[in-house]
Amino acid sequence: MQDKRILILGGTSDAITLARELVRSGYAVVTSLAGITENPTLPEGEIRVGGFGGEEGLLSYIQEQGFTAITDATHPFAAQISSNGFNAAERAGIAYYRLERAAWSALPADHWIDVQDVAAAVNALPHGARVLLTTGRKELALFMTRRDLTGVVRMIEKPAISLQTGWELLLARPPFSVDAERDLMLQHWITHLVTKNAGGKLTVSKLIAARALRIPVVVIARPQKPQARTFGSVASLVAALA
Ligand code: NAP
Repeated sequence: MQDKRILILGGTSDAITLARELVRSGYAVVTSLAGITENPTLPEGEIRVGGFGGEEGLLSYIQEQGFTAITDATHPFAAQISSNGFNAAERAGIAYYRLERAAWSALPADHWIDVQDVAAAVNALPHGARVLLTTGRKELALFMTRRDLTGVVRMIEKPAISLQTGWELLLARPPFSVDAERDLMLQHWITHLVTKNAGGKLTVSKLIAARALRIPVVVIARPQKPQARTFGSVASLVAALA
């Protein structure tokens, strides 16, 4: 199967699992990372780092490297790279498969405030809310424009911008236990959790803790991704490739 050279668009824990399974199945695998995280967990197989230079750059890279398929295992909120990957694969005449875990959905005991995007999430928070903000680096600035909000910003690496007074930075890498999430929310008097609808098990414990504490959760809906063959598990995607 070594004639099958697969490009994984990565940057997620699912991409690491996918790389491992494809390498073990005998494929030649290159995982591409955006290069934003300073100390990323590295997958098996080859790795390349940094943007391609848009769709055109990605198309050239695919053609130079002779890939037979792209598997897109990027985060559900990384919309630009998925669009570039889908279009470049089509233009190169190779297969494009998407790996995407199912979105979370609210249980009857949940108090979710569903919003379409980050701007709506900022507006959905009531005056003076104490927030546990888990949305990531790109979204931080908009929340900092609301001077009445305070709370905890949790992310994996230090953000590029400084936090406003009343916000505390917590650098931590998932997974977190439900107990730890509950303690965090209690210790910081959190009144609202804000999250993207990332889906999957890795970061679901915050939702379980919020449910138990009856804390409202502002949930940002996923952006549109290309209409492509999409698989909910690594095993089903590997089976389809075979
Ligand atoms: P994005 O908005 O879709 O992409 C912006 C640009 O970053 C792309 O046009 C591309 O640059 C470059 N890029 C993104 N992913 C890349 C990859 N895997 N390999 C090479 N270049 C990549 O992406 P994003 O939301 O900034 O996310 C960046 C990375 O972080 C992704 O790999 C994603 O899986 C991961 N991540 C994102 C989130 C999130 O909430 N957005 C959460 C966890 C992990 P060029 O146009 O120059 O090629």
